[in-house]
Amino acid sequence: MFDYLIVGAGFAGSVLAERLAADNKKVLLIDRRSHIGGNAFDHYNSDGLLVHKYGPHIFHTNSREVYDYLGRFTAWRPYEHRVLASVDGMLVPIPINLNTINALYGMNLDATQVAGFLESKAEHRSPVRNSEDVVINKVGKDLYEKFFKGYTKKQWDLDPSELDASVAARIPTRSNRDDRYFADTYQGMPAEGYTKMFERMLDHPNIKVMLNTDYKEIVNQLRFRKIIYTGAVDYYFDYCYGKLPYRSLEFRFETKDKETAQATGTINFPNEHPYTRVTEFKYLTGQQHPKTTLVYEYPQAEGDPYYPVPRPENAELYKKYQQLADAATNVYFTGRLATYRYYNMDQVVAQSLSLFKKLRAAATETPLLNGSRNDVVSDLIQRKIQ
Ligand code: FAD
Ligand code: UDP
Repeated sequence: MFDYLIVGAGFAGSVLAERLAADNKKVLLIDRRSHIGGNAFDHYNSDGLLVHKYGPHIFHTNSREVYDYLGRFTAWRPYEHRVLASVDGMLVPIPINLNTINALYGMNLDATQVAGFLESKAEHRSPVRNSEDVVINKVGKDLYEKFFKGYTKKQWDLDPSELDASVAARIPTRSNRDDRYFADTYQGMPAEGYTKMFERMLDHPNIKVMLNTDYKEIVNQLRFRKIIYTGAVDYYFDYCYGKLPYRSLEFRFETKDKETAQATGTINFPNEHPYTRVTEFKYLTGQQHPKTTLVYEYPQAEGDPYYPVPRPENAELYKKYQQLADAATNVYFTGRLATYRYYNMDQVVAQSLSLFKKLRAAATETPLLNGSRNDVVSDLIQRKIQ
């Protein structure tokens, strides 16, 4: 008998499990995968190098609350991520900055001159509706084509004009020399890795973890009061409105018999190769080792759902699922897949912390839900059909 069944042991589910357990609630946390940590899971590979199974994860946030909360379960290793892009046969900083412009165009401009240069290239667009508008509005067509058009096509199989402005707006443009990928106040990596951090979060007598289990297989055999669901929202509702597009990736790992393989944590390839970027984990983890492991990211349509695809028609479709989710009693949806939001880790933690506060504020006893999932879901689906 559990107070909460939590589906998904990534950031969204694990934060809630930890908070609820500390609040004296009995929690069953299940995941269909064989491990906790969701997409942030890391492990030592057969050569003894710490790698991120689902691609490079770098922690950054402006939220002191989120940073301090996670800091209860890990020490932080200071780390500021830097990325170079392979463009015109050179490796230049991305986000575009003063050094990028000077290297690409063979100039020696100062910050004010770079700002003026970018202004002279920018083609102002109003309103800024999509990711093409965002970039061209700031830096003009040439830099857009060098850095964004090809990368975006590979990553999403869409032209930037088909994606919400928020996607390309993740990448700033700078006229100074700041070459950090993120500008957040708090940046770092869990000193012993993400999985160790998750293990500490979930190490509580009120939390039972069940792995290798899809919730639909067992939900009707369990007794619990509430569900917190962090998987894909369309799957929860049996795809009743059709599939929500999620973009997937294939990760190919390569270990090299040398200490260092590339000049920085990540190299982006906007224009060549089928992969988008290559990341060398030792930069992120700080591990000392005679060998080094890289991961290559190959975007694909099929496979695990990693990215919601932010564009108007998908927002419309999600809205329908959201209405079902809002109507579901004692079922709460949180996290990147369940709320169909292109969230970073810190945003997911903040979302779950805020759901916890709501649950605690509304803490009234609810009847046990058991064997009722099919009734509840089919009732909701019926109601939407009528
Ligand atoms: P997830 O981590 O996806 O966890 C959901 C869990 O639910 C999964 O473990 C899944 O197996 C389980 N699940 C789903 N359905 C079911 C079911 N039916 N039954 C049982 N279990 C189920 N963020 C950053 O802040 N910095 C980064 O550098 C960064 N890099 C990223 C790189 C890549 C390649 C990707 C894909 C994401 C990156 N992110 C990064 C985003 C980050 O991964 C997410 O914000 C975060 O992991 C989302 O946590 P979540 O718990 O919502 O989802
Ligand atoms: N992007 C790009 N070129 C780059 C880096 C990013 O076109 O060199 C665009 C691309 O559409 C990408 C988006 O900006 O999907 C967001 O990039 P980010 O690095 O934040 O992606 P994530 O780490 O979430 O995969």
